[in-house]
Amino acid sequence: MILNSKFVVIGAGALGLASAEGLLRQGAEVTVLERGLAGRESSWAGGGILSPLCLWDYPDEVNRLALRGMALFGGFAGALYQTTGIDPEYQRSGMLVLPPSDVQVAQKWCAAHGVNMEMQDDGMLLPDIAQVRNPRLMQALRARVEQLGGRIVEQCEVKQIVEEAGRVSQLVTTQGSFSADAYIVTAGAWSKVLLGEHALQADIKPIRGQMLLFKFDAPPLPHIMLQKDLYLIPRRDGHLLVGSTLEDAGFDKSTTEEARTMLLRRAIGLLPALRDMPVIRHWAGLRPGSPDNIPTIGRHPNLPNLYINSGHFRYGITMSPASVEVLLNVINGTPQPFDVAPYLWH
Ligand SMILES: Cc1cc2nc3c(=O)[nH]c(=O)nc-3n(C[C@H](O)[C@H](O)[C@H](O)COP(=O)(O)OP(=O)(O)OC[C@H]3O[C@@H](n4cnc5c(N)ncnc54)[C@H](O)[C@@H]3O)c2cc1C
Repeated sequence: MILNSKFVVIGAGALGLASAEGLLRQGAEVTVLERGLAGRESSWAGGGILSPLCLWDYPDEVNRLALRGMALFGGFAGALYQTTGIDPEYQRSGMLVLPPSDVQVAQKWCAAHGVNMEMQDDGMLLPDIAQVRNPRLMQALRARVEQLGGRIVEQCEVKQIVEEAGRVSQLVTTQGSFSADAYIVTAGAWSKVLLGEHALQADIKPIRGQMLLFKFDAPPLPHIMLQKDLYLIPRRDGHLLVGSTLEDAGFDKSTTEEARTMLLRRAIGLLPALRDMPVIRHWAGLRPGSPDNIPTIGRHPNLPNLYINSGHFRYGITMSPASVEVLLNVINGTPQPFDVAPYLWH
């Protein structure tokens, strides 16, 4: 099914590049079309925590995909490093969850799902939660796709998906038209706009998130620190990320003073040393928001050569290897690792 077939992937974020990589490894011929530069939207802007923030607060449909992604990520990142020489800096830094949180619910959930958790004086430590460094992950993915023979066309915006006789026949883009055996929509926050009437139940809209960046000489924290939805992420080289906001602001990627002040105030509450540190960068990204954080993965019900892998909202990096696994199984008609009905395209 995949071997020797021609695929066009629309959007070179984490989901697009990881889907392309999976297809290439199964012998497909793959072209990735990217409106801007590869890996520079939400997948660049995110924090790279490889877990939902408070796992026990999410429905099973989110955690099933996230836990599978978490289990696969070490191997995925390791293989990227090995084959490209670009280190995505996958590390099990652990995540310390500070109060207020419902300890009993969390303990019960972790025990039931095999997630290690240790009670500490200041909160709950989940020692196995890992992180990656987004820009490096994207560079590694890009290099791997090209190494496997994939073609990435940048500054190429898909304007129209052309349908003929119940199938997609071609894509009209700013660099001419492209045709293939099958097409995969991985356009992140823009997926629904691109699909228009073909979107059906894939209800994806941009949800802005703002981040602050600091630089210490050495990591100022041993673990990721989380309090409600505010997190501090220490990188190996002393960079510290503070995030984030959840804003329904349309396709507006600008940063705001209000968010900066709020993030700074709350972060200083957790790490007083930040009071004396300058913010070295402040940015915003547009998450592909979806109802209940449940992505859509699979084949269009009426256009059999059109697929989607989008709407991963807050956890697209975490879910990416699992989401690609599900997509490839749908394309191949091979067994899934779990019940994928909640993600399929209707
Ligand atoms: C502040 C913030 C913090 C986050 N933190 C985390 C975290 O800690 N852990 C985690 O797992 N996730 C996190 N996320 C979420 C995660 O980043 C996203 O779920 C994930 O990056 C989505 O990937 P994507 O490939 O679907 O979208 P994107 O990375 O946005 O990629 C979509 C691509 O499609 C392109 N495109 C769009 N329209 C077209 C078109 N018409 N033609 C051609 N190309 C097109 C875009 O230019 C873009 O490059 C965070 C997000 C943000 C913003």
